[in-house]
Amino acid sequence: MITQEQIQKALTQVIDPELGRNIVELGMVRDIQIQDGHVDLTLVLTVMACPLKNQLKQDTEAAVRSVPGVESVTVKLDAMSPEERQKLQDSLSPALRMNRIGRVVAVMSGKGGVGKSSVTAMLAVALQRMGHRVGVLDADIGGPSIPRLFGIKGPVRGGPLGILPVETRTGIKVMSTNLMLPEEDAALIWRGPVMSGTARQFWKDVCWGKLDYLLVDLPPGTSDVTLTAMQNYPLDGVVMVTMPQGLSSMVVRKTVHMCQELKVPILGIVENMSYFVSPETGTKFEIFGPSHTGLVAECSGAPILARLPIDPQLTSLADSGHIEEYESEAYAELASAFIEAASPVEPAPAAPWLR
Ligand code: ADP
Repeated sequence: MITQEQIQKALTQVIDPELGRNIVELGMVRDIQIQDGHVDLTLVLTVMACPLKNQLKQDTEAAVRSVPGVESVTVKLDAMSPEERQKLQDSLSPALRMNRIGRVVAVMSGKGGVGKSSVTAMLAVALQRMGHRVGVLDADIGGPSIPRLFGIKGPVRGGPLGILPVETRTGIKVMSTNLMLPEEDAALIWRGPVMSGTARQFWKDVCWGKLDYLLVDLPPGTSDVTLTAMQNYPLDGVVMVTMPQGLSSMVVRKTVHMCQELKVPILGIVENMSYFVSPETGTKFEIFGPSHTGLVAECSGAPILARLPIDPQLTSLADSGHIEEYESEAYAELASAFIEAASPVEPAPAAPWLR
């Protein structure tokens, strides 16, 4: 019996002469149907007026016919949508072709100030301590805070293949608009499309190299940049950060709905600033009242990965750019729960097209 894999394998021999890559890798082969000895498939061209269309069609037919058992083949032609073309173009950048990334996970929150960036940074730190290679893409283009937490400064340098991220003291790779500005506190007055363009560039032009996890710190809420990132980055999932109060959980539910609409899986919920433990008495106080995070977990269908304490030591280490020195069992537990939810894979080519 002829299998889809046999057909796909044969089609990897067909190279698009313009792009120099095979048509399977380029996402140009769709809807392979096999019935007895007959194979039907659609070849999706970058544009219908592609001058190489006849040659590509003939090469495709010949490749399918080379599979033992194939008696006839029909190749239908179609054209990519502008969005698909854009993604393809992005995936051809030299940096993307070189990068090998295991899991790409975004960290989101309904609103600002719930500790999204601190959680992203500490999750990166905890994963790094466990021996994983970690990068943080600060997609909060207008309000970047990741470099500050790690005490790193730009300017970023360009390499032959793209932009080189800045490494923190312990070797976490970071890319952020703050590393591109002359001064850390320079205002970034950019319109939405420019911010979205920068977010796309952070994905396709940064030389991340080999990473087990790339964490993406998204802007709070459901902004333009968030939408760009969710549509252009090959996200394996999202972690939602919330606080115990009802209001926080209500806003985060909007973000949950956004993920559901864009079909990005929610890996888990992190409840930050859940409680405070008095250093004198060890008594636990629920400063923000009883938790409403159960409702978020319920509506997202995702587990609560961790409930993190309020800890003034974290605030002061974060403020002074020494977050990597912060030690807390709670974050090690978060990292373990995160790994379980993200089901790690070997770092692989990160071309969005292939996912
Ligand atoms: P967001 O990214 O959601 O806007 P930040 O990570 O910038 O939030 O955190 C806002 C402030 O709260 C920062 O000063 C940070 O140091 C502090 N913070 C965050 N989480 C905690 C925590 N668990 N304990 C103490 N302070 C925290």
